[in-house]
Amino acid sequence: MGKAKGNQQSVADEDGRKRLRSLAAVDEVLRQPAAEELLTRYPRALVVDAVRAVIDRLRAEILDAQAAGEPAAAGTDDLTPAALVPWVASLLETAVTPSLRRVINATGVVVHTNLGRALLPPEAVEAVVTAASGYTDLEYSLARGDRASRQDHVHDVLCTVGGSEDALVVNNNAAAVLLALAATARGGEVLVARGQLVEIGDGFRIPDILRESGAELVEVGTTNRTYLRDFEAAWTERTKALLRVHTSNYRIVGFTAEPSLEELGALAHDRGAVLVDDLGSGALAGLDLFSEEPALTDSIAAGCDIVTFSGDKLLGGPQAGIVVGRAAAIGAMRSHPLARALRIDKLDLAALDAVLRLYLDPERAIASIPTLRALAAPLDEVRARAGRLRDLLIGAGVPGDRLDLLETVARAGAGALPVTEVPSIAVVAETPSGEAQRRAELLRRGVPAVVCRVQDDRLLFDLRAVGDDELDDLAGAALLALV
Ligand SMILES: *Cc1c(COP(=O)(O)O)cnc(C)c1O
Repeated sequence: MGKAKGNQQSVADEDGRKRLRSLAAVDEVLRQPAAEELLTRYPRALVVDAVRAVIDRLRAEILDAQAAGEPAAAGTDDLTPAALVPWVASLLETAVTPSLRRVINATGVVVHTNLGRALLPPEAVEAVVTAASGYTDLEYSLARGDRASRQDHVHDVLCTVGGSEDALVVNNNAAAVLLALAATARGGEVLVARGQLVEIGDGFRIPDILRESGAELVEVGTTNRTYLRDFEAAWTERTKALLRVHTSNYRIVGFTAEPSLEELGALAHDRGAVLVDDLGSGALAGLDLFSEEPALTDSIAAGCDIVTFSGDKLLGGPQAGIVVGRAAAIGAMRSHPLARALRIDKLDLAALDAVLRLYLDPERAIASIPTLRALAAPLDEVRARAGRLRDLLIGAGVPGDRLDLLETVARAGAGALPVTEVPSIAVVAETPSGEAQRRAELLRRGVPAVVCRVQDDRLLFDLRAVGDDELDDLAGAALLALV
């Protein structure tokens, strides 16, 4: 045994040495006619770097195989200068191609954090293109001919749709919470119910944000029950704010209690502190699906000084942190030095501007905003879409007995209402036994990429988050993985 192993190692050593000797040098590769052609298309430094990278990677592969006492990979069989050029060309092609790729979302998760959350309605896309390709009055008053605030573009419409006295937008909701606490409670204490000290996802942890804001966290009550008297008992002269966090991705059920926002608001205002409500998703549309979500109107009516939520969750807009509430608290956020560091960029502002205006007519918002459309679509509409996908696949030659329609459970998403289920329909495709994972990978690497679900060694294409205009592309991609 030991001898066989030693023998195998010396074979691997010899093989590795041979391969390393035959590995082309940078100069040799660059002198290849095909490499000279690359030099006409790309800057020399980029080509040289790519040649080095290819050689380094091959050398590392050979050394790894040698160290493991294994035969080197087949990719290191031909190490002549000419053989290396296609690798260099492909590396260069990758380097100059933007990394962000279009994905068809067949997962059934509508607001998918890892797939970019909300899609913009056409009105917002148009606004982004305008703002991106020309100068705009971003921070300029065309009436007065001098400087203005970028906030002016969305302030009034946000106050209208949010039903609030004042409003502000920042980069994202994490930034909104950070700024709210820094502006109202730095150097003081913030009371938070223990059951709300959660991690929201993407590493957004309430205790960490609180620490960074310069305020001190005071946990109140127990994990499942917190009463108003717990807040009263924890109060000190350093208490500056009460924070309520909507724990959307986490629910404590059963024996629970927490004081109402009205009670918290009354307590805070009685004692000269502010009430901050991190609403998370912030659904503005009146969809039945959202009925269990805390409504923004309730937070405003309860007298919250600051209410924050994301622009790209259930609002269906761009990444943004939206802040609505009372003028005194929001004014303090506006003039805080951090506001500049956390400001919204112009493309997001342009998109948000357009999306908020859709909400002036809620029916129009639901009809136009992709996130709302996807969530509100009747099951029959999703079933019809699934039927069309199946027909397209059958029309392209996939045997009908390998395709099925299945009732599934879709979700609003980890970024929004992760525990809320939405009935949906998927096309289920049989693949050869044991192949489903590999076929799913093939789909992910395709153009456009398709992300679907794998269940019981079959591929599931959930149609809830797939647009009608994506069906042809989805069918084309799926076909390649199913043949
Ligand atoms: C999602 C979420 C955040 C973070 O919002 P981002 O827009 O991702 O920064 C903060 N608080 C709550 C309650 C959330 O649900």
